[in-house]
Amino acid sequence: MTPVNIAHNLAVVQGRIAAACERSGRTPDTVTLVAVSKRKPAADVLAAAAAGVVHFGENRVEELSEKHAQVMSQVASRVVWHMIGHIQSRKTRHIPTLFDTVDAVDSMKLAEKLSAVVVAAERPPLPTLIEVNVSGEANKAGLAASGWQSDASVYAVVRHTVAQMTALPGLDVRGLMTMAPFVSDPELARPVFVALRELRDALVVDLDCPLPELSMGMTNDFEVAIEEGATLVRIGRAIFGERD
Ligand SMILES: *Cc1c(COP(=O)(O)O)cnc(C)c1O
Repeated sequence: MTPVNIAHNLAVVQGRIAAACERSGRTPDTVTLVAVSKRKPAADVLAAAAAGVVHFGENRVEELSEKHAQVMSQVASRVVWHMIGHIQSRKTRHIPTLFDTVDAVDSMKLAEKLSAVVVAAERPPLPTLIEVNVSGEANKAGLAASGWQSDASVYAVVRHTVAQMTALPGLDVRGLMTMAPFVSDPELARPVFVALRELRDALVVDLDCPLPELSMGMTNDFEVAIEEGATLVRIGRAIFGERD
């Protein structure tokens, strides 16, 4: 097997991000690339950092605990760690020391636990994104928001939960995150990205709070997500190659 050329893959991805920005009248600096390094070794993170990546996404606390020291002791540039997976309650206390931002807060219970951990540790508010399930897929985490445009009761619950989360001390809620269904044609994911952006727009008006970030788009569908307003794209395989 030929080794994965991370710097080359990164340049290709950055070119595709720039082209998608161009098509949608945006500048590339409005899109943050989060390189998803889950199940990849510290050496891969260091290679990507050397090629200019600042933001990394990981989805397991234990895994980053192992990689964190190795990366941080060797890296020459700034690294920002994003938690992009579900967090088990008993692991919340490790979050603020390992991660710089939690991009997938998927329940009020988790938000409250994180808030309490940050407040108890007297740490600055943790940048946070709220995960929303707009596709309605049963296997997806996040606040249930499928059909929110046509069902006022769905929207009311989401709005109430987001209002409660934004009021918690210790959390700096910056926006929303979603995962689109895994489909072969990225166009099929477009309605999910539109629904997340429109939900964000509605919440901003109704709650009078800024929610500038939209984390949406992965290897299969990031260009469509950018066209629909993504400010963060989470890309793993296109940079690091297939995972085992
Ligand atoms: C693994 C993962 C990604 C990256 O997926 P790729 O298809 O490798 O780009 C993005 N977001 C989340 C939440 C993930 O778990």
